[in-house]
Amino acid sequence: MRLFDHHIHSSRSDGSVTLEDRAKSVAVRPHGISDHYPWPTGMQTDGDVLRYLDDAARLGLRVGIEYDLGVAPALPRSTHDALDYVIGSVHQLAMDGTRLGYDAAGAFLKGRTPPPYSEAARFADPELQRRVLEAHLALVRVGILETGIDIVGHPTMSPLAALGDPEVGYPVEWQERLIALCVEHDVAIEINEAYRVPHRAFLERAHARGARFSVGSDSHFVLLPLDRTEAMIRDAGLAAGPFLDGRRPQAGVSTATSS
Ligand SMILES: [Zn+2]
Ligand SMILES: [Zn+2]
Repeated sequence: MRLFDHHIHSSRSDGSVTLEDRAKSVAVRPHGISDHYPWPTGMQTDGDVLRYLDDAARLGLRVGIEYDLGVAPALPRSTHDALDYVIGSVHQLAMDGTRLGYDAAGAFLKGRTPPPYSEAARFADPELQRRVLEAHLALVRVGILETGIDIVGHPTMSPLAALGDPEVGYPVEWQERLIALCVEHDVAIEINEAYRVPHRAFLERAHARGARFSVGSDSHFVLLPLDRTEAMIRDAGLAAGPFLDGRRPQAGVSTATSS
């Protein structure tokens, strides 16, 4: 199985490797490029996205973006269609007028901060958990219906995953709603090497519902191996796919209704 790695960053957002050097590692194994949009020192306007697309495509890379759901400006249809794929990811929620960031949870899930998870007490509140679930799913829904994302990036990366058992953090009913949304619109569910999400039971449920999957190392520095991804695929019985292979399916996905 030759997996195409869709989710890789460069120095055009928060990665340390230039686009030129990313283009060279395609020889190691197939991958695209998908920098953050927006990013404070990177892409902030549609014109920036188009320049990024030109620069990366000229180097021979398949070109996506990691569209920051709930934050990024609307993506014109023509820009969406010019990109090989769009990953839509939730990195934060807006709640009561303040930003509820996923940064600490993400760092914990990546193994960058040791246990215990520093926000565990705060997110133990069932009411807050319920609000996070609904707000997270709402952002993904808008990304699918309005932006026309092709891939849901790290679909279950949030403080709820960092709390411990994801089968507890994510009620099965919620998982099924997220999966149904992806299946209905043929949006790929990303298997994310860096955050090690989604968990096995989620992947098995998605597979049983006929979901498509996408592989993402989420490399920011050296090209990360896909060891954990391959184990996740094996353990969940997904080896036969279907997997996205570097561009959106020809017939599917064009579900965007707004520009
Ligand atoms: Zn991300
Ligand atoms: Zn990323």
